[in-house]
Amino acid sequence: MHETDMTKALILTIEDWLAEQPGHPPVKTVYLTVGEFAGVEPASLQFAFQVQRQGTCVNDAELVIEDVPLVAFCHPCQQEYRPEIGLQYGCPQCHSPMEDIRTGRELKIDRLEFVADPASASSTETKQTVEV
Ligand SMILES: [Zn+2]
Repeated sequence: MHETDMTKALILTIEDWLAEQPGHPPVKTVYLTVGEFAGVEPASLQFAFQVQRQGTCVNDAELVIEDVPLVAFCHPCQQEYRPEIGLQYGCPQCHSPMEDIRTGRELKIDRLEFVADPASASSTETKQTVEV
């Protein structure tokens, strides 16, 4: 199952990152950017996360998935358009095939939110791409 591997990679990425930041507070929320053309089902990803987080650094963390629409750019028309997934990927005006995808393929950790440390009350943010 694709989402299971994705989630494993996601949790490993967070663990690696946290390992380089000694003394960090626990992760409260993981914000994940998922393009609608990334090939993953947000609901399955959410389910896999609930199962796999147990006993890891994100044991108590919540996963928030932010969807990004598929947007392509047509060079002959010099404009962006929204392909219809599964129906029509080419440019609706000139019917050029979809070549230049602007957004919609991403699968990355947008940021992590930490449980506020009463001493400093700061939360750290990060941006990282999940390599799968
Ligand atoms: Zn076009």
